[in-house]
Amino acid sequence: MRLSRYFMPILKENPKEAEIVSHRLMLRAGMIRQQSQGIYSWLPLGKRVLDKVNAIIRDEQNRAGAIELSMPTLQSAELWQESGRYDAYGKEMLRIKDRQDRPMLYGPTNEEMVTDIFRSSVKSYKDLPLNLYHIQLKFRDEIRPRFGTMRSREFMMKDAYSFDLTREGAEHSYNKMFAAYLRTFDRLGLRAIPMRADTGPIGGKLSHEFIILADTGESEVFCHKDFVDFDIPGEHTDFDSVEGLQAIFDKWTSLYAATSEMHDEAAFNAVPEGDRLSARGIEVGHIFYFGTKYSEPMGAKVQGPDGKEHFVHMGSYGIGPTRLVPAIIEASHDDNGIIWPASVAPFDVVVINMKAGDQACDDTCELIYAALTKAGKDVLYDDTDDRAGTKFATADLIGVPVQIIAGPRAVANGEVEVKDRKTGARETMTIEAAINRFVA
Ligand code: ATP
Ligand code: MG
Repeated sequence: MRLSRYFMPILKENPKEAEIVSHRLMLRAGMIRQQSQGIYSWLPLGKRVLDKVNAIIRDEQNRAGAIELSMPTLQSAELWQESGRYDAYGKEMLRIKDRQDRPMLYGPTNEEMVTDIFRSSVKSYKDLPLNLYHIQLKFRDEIRPRFGTMRSREFMMKDAYSFDLTREGAEHSYNKMFAAYLRTFDRLGLRAIPMRADTGPIGGKLSHEFIILADTGESEVFCHKDFVDFDIPGEHTDFDSVEGLQAIFDKWTSLYAATSEMHDEAAFNAVPEGDRLSARGIEVGHIFYFGTKYSEPMGAKVQGPDGKEHFVHMGSYGIGPTRLVPAIIEASHDDNGIIWPASVAPFDVVVINMKAGDQACDDTCELIYAALTKAGKDVLYDDTDDRAGTKFATADLIGVPVQIIAGPRAVANGEVEVKDRKTGARETMTIEAAINRFVA
């Protein structure tokens, strides 16, 4: 991508409305634009990051055996009347009438709709277990939308829904998502800690919020500090192994971890003082087993091996991609801007032409740009005629992991400078060596 032809509206000044660093940097880097309160456009640079986040989420959902579909944002009120949530949901639900005066709503979540899909075609235990997910916009008319896309009214969610014949089966389905979430957040460059969450009237232990520690987080959290170094389940984790996944779950729930709603002072005080971590956190995911809460009122049942009908046991599993992007920035930035983990960076490398119009600089940059693009890299080429200082500031602000800098003096020697955004380390090398770093 040539910057001269791209759309990346950088702000020089700090936007006054931004209270936290991620919101400030997303606005300054031209990633998002607020359209009305808590409703955002994702501009090209932001969209690239969001797509990469979603690709990782999707990859890990698929690995764990979940199956993607797409459900609409607009839903009929009827389904929600069946479950009883149409009246219970309150003002967060945006209610709409169509031209025939039929009550509709902009979905805040999809349990009812997915249960309807399930009951319309699944009739036998032989078709279970089943886990269906989509990545779709949601709307919740939050009382206090704030911090940019961290807490917005329209936001994206990956929501998965599992269906099992028995509670034991549902626990295995839960453990699959538990392990998949650990892997997902790790690949996004984040350390997320599963914390016991309220299960409400359903009871039991099967609800966890995945929390990232960050000073600007909205939740107050308490946990054992060893979670910071726990091993993440590997790429070859067997998601069909009941014992294997149970062991992962047991390990990751063996130490104290709770948000303030579930906090138990006495249990926390039993943790040796030096191991206690009390901090603020951002909820990036939430998984929940809720048994037959929706399958009973909505009549979602299958025939079991005993020939009888059974209401299916369900769970739901959410991740917020549009919250994850700012959460990643909260965890990874410096005074100059964003520092993207390579896995979600909008570009792999930025080529900076320090003197656009200078034949040698132009030729060198074109050569590198073509070679890296051909090698399948996402390359941003700053071919604008801005001052070098402005280009460096922009490259640091947008946080691309590697910068290849071509200035007249180095180019005259057949060399360029390669800068690591995270460490700031600069290295002068031949043009060929710079290319080979990516191609090899
Ligand atoms: P919160 O407690 O932060 O309001 P929630 O518990 O209502 O969130 P869930 O229903 O568990 O949220 O939704 C699943 C995921 O969707 C959350 O873990 C979060 O990542 C994301 N999410 C929820 N609400 C928002 C929002 N208003 N803006 C952005 N992301 C959100
Ligand atoms: Mg939640």
